Amino acid sequence: MKRFIYADNAATTKLDIEAFEAMKPFLLDEYGNASQPYAFSRTAKTALKEARATIADCIGAQLEEIYFTSGGTEGDNWIIKESAFADVEKRATITSQIEHHAVLHACAAIERLGYPVAYLPADCKGVIAPEKLASYITGKTRLVSVMYANNEIGTMQPIKELCTVAHSHGALFHTDAVQAVGHVKIDVRDINIDALSASAHKFNGPKGVGFLYVKRGTKLLPYMDGGAQEFRLRAGTENIASIVGMATALRKNCELIEESTLKARQMEMVLLSALDESGIAYNRNGTNQIPGNISLSFRGQSGEAILHRLDLMGICVSTGSACDSVNTEISHVLQAIGLDESYAKGTIRITLGTHNTTDDAITIAKSIIKILQKKA
Ligand code: PLP
Repeated sequence: MKRFIYADNAATTKLDIEAFEAMKPFLLDEYGNASQPYAFSRTAKTALKEARATIADCIGAQLEEIYFTSGGTEGDNWIIKESAFADVEKRATITSQIEHHAVLHACAAIERLGYPVAYLPADCKGVIAPEKLASYITGKTRLVSVMYANNEIGTMQPIKELCTVAHSHGALFHTDAVQAVGHVKIDVRDINIDALSASAHKFNGPKGVGFLYVKRGTKLLPYMDGGAQEFRLRAGTENIASIVGMATALRKNCELIEESTLKARQMEMVLLSALDESGIAYNRNGTNQIPGNISLSFRGQSGEAILHRLDLMGICVSTGSACDSVNTEISHVLQAIGLDESYAKGTIRITLGTHNTTDDAITIAKSIIKILQKKA
């Protein structure tokens, strides 16, 4: 019997068992510092190199284009802040109104220092139009940063087109791909992207570790000053166990991507069909959603109340972005897509992952129906 149904995989995911097993030796016996020259550190050094190669391979990058970080927040801060400081002639940044706070607050920080930032609007489905970007960009823009997939409503952006617009104006293009890496196929070479940030705990890896991809030849200033780790650009003794766990989880997720996508789409369909059959009206937010992301708005309801009722029934969902669970105001994403307040307040986010089943999807739907029909 399951203790609860976890359906908040956009907030974090369960650690993959193979990733856990791969991490264990580096937590116990192979504790050598990868920077040391003696034989005992060789295993750690080799593991670091292999993990970098695995991750590079999963996204179509080269080994020396992968920098290990403490997660998505660090990758976003690194590229946004260091890009602003890198070129006195080009100090401007463009991002979107629907980014995660890791991007928005990093942008606010550079704005406070006098570096200009423009915020692209999204349409009612959460899409950032490439034509809009073309109308915002100037010769002073050094970096455009638009997320791959939105964490609240799941919308995936036309990343390749946005990237092309940025390049045609001489700007670099970064994407916060925290919600996408390990969930959809990404080939950085094909998109021709300059930078991408990712986080292991969103793809069944451990928490507190991630990576930043930066295309070879792109000027990148160090974010953490100190030792010579990460090609002298990100100082600090490497967390080998977590890096190995991240690489193992990513490789596994990428190998199973087609299977997982089919399963996620089926779970979405089952859940939505059950709601449709009940006659309960709802708005599904977003478009071209990342597999498993279902953002639903029930008019005149309270998303908070639904979340707590589901919690009492052993079901974990979210009202919006997990990083904002203390903030009960309407999220900046729902505001940016212009969702009417009567719907926005009644929004819940269900994110189904690799450990969910169609039975979970049915139970979630039935529980929502009970709550909204005031039978629970
Ligand atoms: N970017 C997006 C789109 C996210 O969803 C998150 C986490 O929810 C982050 C960045 C932050 O990632 P991390 O928790 O690894 O710092």
